[in-house]
Amino acid sequence: MRTPFTEAFGVEYPIVQGGMQWVGRAELAGAVSEAGGLGLITALTQPTPEDLTKEIARAREITDKPFGVNLTILPTIKPVPYDEYRHAIVDAGITIVETAGSNPAPHMDFFHEHNVKVLHKCTSVRHAVKAQAVGVDGISIDGFECAGHPGEDDVPGLILIAAARKEISIPMIASGGFADGRGLVAALALGADGINMGTRFMCTVESPIHEKVKQQIVENSELDTELIFRTLRNTSRVASNEVSRETVRILNEGGKFEDVQQLVAGVRGVKVYENGDPEAGIWSAGQVQGLIDDIPTCADLISRIVAEADEIVNERLSALVGAGEQVQA
Ligand code: NAD
Repeated sequence: MRTPFTEAFGVEYPIVQGGMQWVGRAELAGAVSEAGGLGLITALTQPTPEDLTKEIARAREITDKPFGVNLTILPTIKPVPYDEYRHAIVDAGITIVETAGSNPAPHMDFFHEHNVKVLHKCTSVRHAVKAQAVGVDGISIDGFECAGHPGEDDVPGLILIAAARKEISIPMIASGGFADGRGLVAALALGADGINMGTRFMCTVESPIHEKVKQQIVENSELDTELIFRTLRNTSRVASNEVSRETVRILNEGGKFEDVQQLVAGVRGVKVYENGDPEAGIWSAGQVQGLIDDIPTCADLISRIVAEADEIVNERLSALVGAGEQVQA
């Protein structure tokens, strides 16, 4: 499959593994890239820039194909030394970075000076236009269905992807709600050049999280998410559990971030993935849980998506279009 995205970013398939906090580790990013997609190591999952350097080296033991690093720029409980993480990324020879969360402008000169391509993930057309204007190399446009931070506009992918395509001339992939070949074909039809998947890759053999959390994703439906931090304008879509429902309740009753900090801290949420108790803290998951029924390897998942997309385009859709032509004739 060739699209402007695969050409610009040098990957075989237009399928990206989203940069997920606590999940985007070497095992997953390496497996996705080895299977022909674009894997991403999540920088802030590594406690220090030195740990990130080691994680990049671990991924290189899994694949010699290109993989990237996600750098999320959002509020954190502890300040992040972004400058040091940026240096760790370029010193390790990484050539693709996914920025997400806020304006990538402060990072652009440094990355471009070091021949790093920047794929910026954002949740509105105006932010995509801004990112294109500051010179990013690709856009990942993230609909309201997504896990993690969907922004505050609540525009679902069906509208957002097509609306963004009207303004974006550089390679653009679609994010939020993708899990299979149907989604890939839909994204391409809406004008995107590929897809980004987070929750779907969480639920793979190589994903470095506890098996019980993967099983929970399989069991969950599209209804099993909560939107936390709405009142703080830092909305995050996470799996529905006692902790996320309690967070929503406290904030809706006028609580401040300090009132929920103990509930939502990432150091607590990571225990969900380590110990396999889906009720232990906050963990991210999207509405796409309703489309996830198994735990395949990354290679099987990617080849299945590509085969399914091919079948939809070349058999189902072309038969429908052909049938229409026959009726007209
Ligand atoms: P953390 O422990 O520092 O914070 C936990 C959560 O609280 C995060 O969602 C963070 O955005 C939010 N938060 C922190 N301070 C806040 C404040 N003053 N006001 C409002 N919200 C606040 O974060 P972490 O779990 O170690 O994650 C590190 C980074 O990765 C954060 O920026 C987080 O937002 C981001 N993240 C992204 C995803 C994703 O799916 N893309 C998922 C989890 C976390």
